[in-house]
Amino acid sequence: MGISGVACAIGVAVAGAIAYTLSLRVEALALRDEAARKLTSHSAALVSELKRYGYLPALIALSPPVRDAALHPGNAAALATADRFLQSANREADAAAIYVMNPHGRTLAASNWNEQVSFVGMNFAFRPYFREAMAGLAGRFYGIGTTSHVPGLYFSWPVRGPGGIAGVVATKVDLDKVALPWQGAHDPVLVVDRNGIVFLGSMPQWRFKSIAPLSEATRRRLQQTRQYADAGALQAIGLRAAGRAAGLALVEPPSVGADPLRLFHRVTYMLTRRGVPGTDWQILSLSDMRPARQAARRSALAAAALAGLLEALGLFLLQRRRTQAERLAARARHEALSQANAELRREVDERERVEQALTRTLDELAQASKMVALGEMATGIAHELNQPLTALHTLSDNAIVFLEQGRTDVVRQNLEAIGRLVGRMARITVDLKSFARKTPPSWEPCRASDALAGARSIIDQRLAKERIALLVRLPDDEPLLMCDEVRLQQVLLNLLANAADALKGSADKRIEVGLDLDPDAPGGASATLRVRDNGPGIADAVQSHLFEPFFTTKGQGLGLGLGLSIARRILRGFDASLEARNAPEGGAEFTVRLRVQAPGKSDG
Ligand code: ADP
Repeated sequence: MGISGVACAIGVAVAGAIAYTLSLRVEALALRDEAARKLTSHSAALVSELKRYGYLPALIALSPPVRDAALHPGNAAALATADRFLQSANREADAAAIYVMNPHGRTLAASNWNEQVSFVGMNFAFRPYFREAMAGLAGRFYGIGTTSHVPGLYFSWPVRGPGGIAGVVATKVDLDKVALPWQGAHDPVLVVDRNGIVFLGSMPQWRFKSIAPLSEATRRRLQQTRQYADAGALQAIGLRAAGRAAGLALVEPPSVGADPLRLFHRVTYMLTRRGVPGTDWQILSLSDMRPARQAARRSALAAAALAGLLEALGLFLLQRRRTQAERLAARARHEALSQANAELRREVDERERVEQALTRTLDELAQASKMVALGEMATGIAHELNQPLTALHTLSDNAIVFLEQGRTDVVRQNLEAIGRLVGRMARITVDLKSFARKTPPSWEPCRASDALAGARSIIDQRLAKERIALLVRLPDDEPLLMCDEVRLQQVLLNLLANAADALKGSADKRIEVGLDLDPDAPGGASATLRVRDNGPGIADAVQSHLFEPFFTTKGQGLGLGLGLSIARRILRGFDASLEARNAPEGGAEFTVRLRVQAPGKSDG
C-alpha cells in the first residue's frame, strides 16, 4: 500500500468516524425527544391518578359516620357503622383501602374490616402520612403496607373535632394499575421517590432498589418509617455510568448472569428523567441505545463506502489526467522530434538534390565550355591541318615526279615524311576527339609535357598571331602526374587562354610555364605546375571571386566566367588544387599542385 493508499484508508476511516459521531448524535437527540414525550404522558397518567384520590380523605373526614367514630371511639355501634360506610365508599372509589385512626395512630374503622388482612386495631403512628395529618396537613406517602405487604400510595387528612384533631382518615391507593401499560414497553420506565428508590415501573426486579447507592442516614430514616417494610436492605440497582449522549447520561445495567458475549450484548441506556408535578418523585425512562448505535454504524459504513468510492473515483480521474498529460507530453515530444527529423531529412534531401543539380550543371557546363573552346579551336585546327595537308600535297606531287625519274631514294624520303605528317594529323584529331568526348576521369598518369603539347596544338597559333612569347621550363626527368592527360590539357589551355586575354594591350607579352617537384611534401611527392604572365595581374576586387562560376570581367560574349571554376573542379577530382596570386615581379600566377605517382609504379 503506497502513501496514497494509506491516505485513502485514513480518509475512509475519518469519513466513517465523522458519520458515526454525527449520526449517533442525531439518533440520540431523537431518542431523547421520544423519551421526553413518553415521560410527559406517563407522568400525566400518574398525576391524574393522584388527583383522583387526593381529595378522597378530606371528603371521608367530613362524613358523619367517620366523624362519629372518631369522636366516639368507645361506641361499638358507631365503629361498626363507620366500617360499613368505609367499605361501601371504597367500592365506589376503587382504592385499596380507606380507614380512620384515632390521634394515637390506632385504626378505629377500615374498609377491609371483614377481610383476612384487616387494618382495624393496627397502629400506623410511625407512618409519616399519619404524623403529617396530625400536624393539620394533607399527608401523602408511598410505601409497602406493613400489614398487607402490598405497596401503595397513602393519602391522609385530619378529622377535626371540637377539641382539635380527633383522628386521621387515610386512603391507600394501588398505583400498580397506572404502571400496568408500561410493562410491555421495550424501554424501562421507572418512578423513583426523592431518595432515588424505584417504587413503580416496568422492571419488577428493580422495585425497591435505589438507582444510586443510599447514604447511611437515609437508610436509617427509611427503616424508622418502615416505608418499604422489610424490602429493607434497599440495595442499589447497580447502574453504571457509561458516558453521555445528546447531553444526557448513559447507563449500563448489571449483566444478568455470566454472559461470555457480554461485550457484544452490551446494553446501554440513555437516562431521561422528569419530575412528576405536585410530588417529589421523578419518572425515569431508560432508552436502549442499540438501535441508535446500529443506525450510526450503518451511516458510518455508508459514508466510508461513499468516501472510498469518491476517493477511488478521484484517484482514477487523477491517474487518468496524469497519464493523459504524459501521453500528450510524449506525443508533443514525439511530434517535435519527428518534425525536427523530417526537417533535417528535408534539408539533407534538398542539399543532396542541389549538389546533384550542381554536379550535373557543372558537368554540363564543363562540356559546354569545351564546345566553346572547340569552336575557338576549329580555326586553329584548320590551320594546323592545312599546313601538313599542303606539305602532303607537295610531297606526294614531288614523289610522283621523282618516281618517274627513277629516284626511288627521294621517293622513299618523301613517303616517310608523308607518313610522319599523317601521324601528326591523326594525333591532332585523336586529341580533339578525346577533348570533346564526355569521358570520366581515367586516372591514367600523364606527363605535364604531353598535356602542354596538346594545349599548345590548339593555342599556339593564337599566341603567335598575338605575338605572345611562351617560355616553358620542364625538368629533365619529368615525373608521372596523378591526373588524366586530356583533363590536364583542358586546364592548361584555360590558363594559357586567360593569360593571353590578360596580355591584350601589353607591349612585351610573355607567358611562362614551369614545373617544380617537391619529393618531400607532407602528403607524398607532389609537383607544382605554374602558369605566369606579365599582364596587369588580378585586381583586389576580383581576387575573392576568381573561382566563382559565371564570374567574369570580360565583356559580353568574350567570357562565360566558367574557365577557372571548371578547372578547379576538374583538379579536385584528382586530389589536386588550383590557386591564383599576383607574382612579386608583376602579373598573375596560377599554381596547379598535383600528386606525383609513386616511383615504384613509374613506367619509366
Ligand atoms: P572568363 O575567362 O570567362 O572570364 P574565368 O573563370 O576563366 O572566366 O576567369 C575569371 C576572371 O578571372 C576573368 O574574367 C579575369 O578577370 C580573371 N583572370 C583570369 N585569369 C587572369 C589572368 N591571367 N590575369 C588577370 N586576370 C585573370
